[in-house]
Amino acid sequence: MTKAKKQKLAFFIGTGAALGLLGAGYFFRHRLMAYTGAVWDTYTEERLKGLSDALNVRQRAKRFILDLQSRGINVRIPPDGADRSFAEQTELWKKGRFYPPYGETVTNAQAGESYHNYGLAFDIVPIVDGKAMYDTSHWPLIGKVGKSYGFKWGGDWSRPDKPHFEEIRLGTVWDLLAQYKDGTLTAELTV
Ligand SMILES: [Zn+2]
Repeated sequence: MTKAKKQKLAFFIGTGAALGLLGAGYFFRHRLMAYTGAVWDTYTEERLKGLSDALNVRQRAKRFILDLQSRGINVRIPPDGADRSFAEQTELWKKGRFYPPYGETVTNAQAGESYHNYGLAFDIVPIVDGKAMYDTSHWPLIGKVGKSYGFKWGGDWSRPDKPHFEEIRLGTVWDLLAQYKDGTLTAELTV
């Protein structure tokens, strides 16, 4: 091959590779941005720290939130929306049962019965003009994106809990609670 031919070939290979990378980048734009961005909201950034490292839950939750951000949906983890101690779960369970407004309960899960108690669940809500917007048309997309990061979505339940995402592959909450009582719960999940 002549030098000119070699140069031409190198040019085509180089251009092809560059175009390929650009195309892949465009195709996986949200994923790429999810790896490189920063969460817009300092509350969310702080609350993410409470999630478990087991199965990279914290890292995946962050990438999921960044992915939504790159799609123009800014979400926040609300107070009590990430990890909860058993005591905090008990307080939450008492709301509406032991304290007014009676009948308006927040959760059916008692201490140890929620993935939140193990740093394996988190809630998110879109923030629009600084306000939490639970009533939004974005939920189907939010659910779909969250599931693509390996989480189960509360929006799929018979009694939907759309803000809720959880990692269930380490066992049921009953398995985890039994391990907690035995003292065999993995250190990353100890509450
Ligand atoms: Zn939840």
